[in-house]
Amino acid sequence: MDLGKLIQERIRDVDDYPKPGVLFKDITPLLADHVAFAGVVDAIVNHRGRGTVDKIVGIEARGFILAAPVAYHFGAGFVPVRKKGKLPSRTHEETYDLEYGTETIEIHVDAFEPGDRVLIVDDVLATGGTARAAAELVRRGGGEVVGLSVLLELSFLQGRGRLGNLDVHSLVTV
Ligand code: AMP
Repeated sequence: MDLGKLIQERIRDVDDYPKPGVLFKDITPLLADHVAFAGVVDAIVNHRGRGTVDKIVGIEARGFILAAPVAYHFGAGFVPVRKKGKLPSRTHEETYDLEYGTETIEIHVDAFEPGDRVLIVDDVLATGGTARAAAELVRRGGGEVVGLSVLLELSFLQGRGRLGNLDVHSLVTV
């Protein structure tokens, strides 16, 4: 079966989660299907090509699940971007606006070697605020952001437009 079609079939829409008015894209059925999960990881790796990236950044929490096997297959290291207060050592932090309120994410200051080529991986690109903040953290840490790969892009939220000239690759766009 076509990977895009399989991905769409395995992502469950949940109305009004985590709050009224949000249509949540639940990737747990996709993760539970080994063909779909492996297909997604392979597609992200193949799009860029092995050897093109030194570190994969995964964004807490669902981004971790995709980014770790992607890092393994790339032959790249894995670096977590986490919500404020979760990383144990010294961090850079970025605060950005959510629909209601703000969010702060962090990265360890010593996560990269100078000039590391970094791919950011997450499950869903919505408004782009999270990805933009993550890219800024990578730059502040001395890495060079080569792109963002996501499973699903919600194009009606125009996240891509907030990411400047960042190379955005999404497996499925709705
Ligand atoms: P944004 O910063 O608006 O692009 O939101 C992206 C982050 O929030 C990602 O880490 C997603 O996991 C999560 N997210 C945002 N909207 C949704 C949604 N409708 N369904 C699932 N996850 C979402």
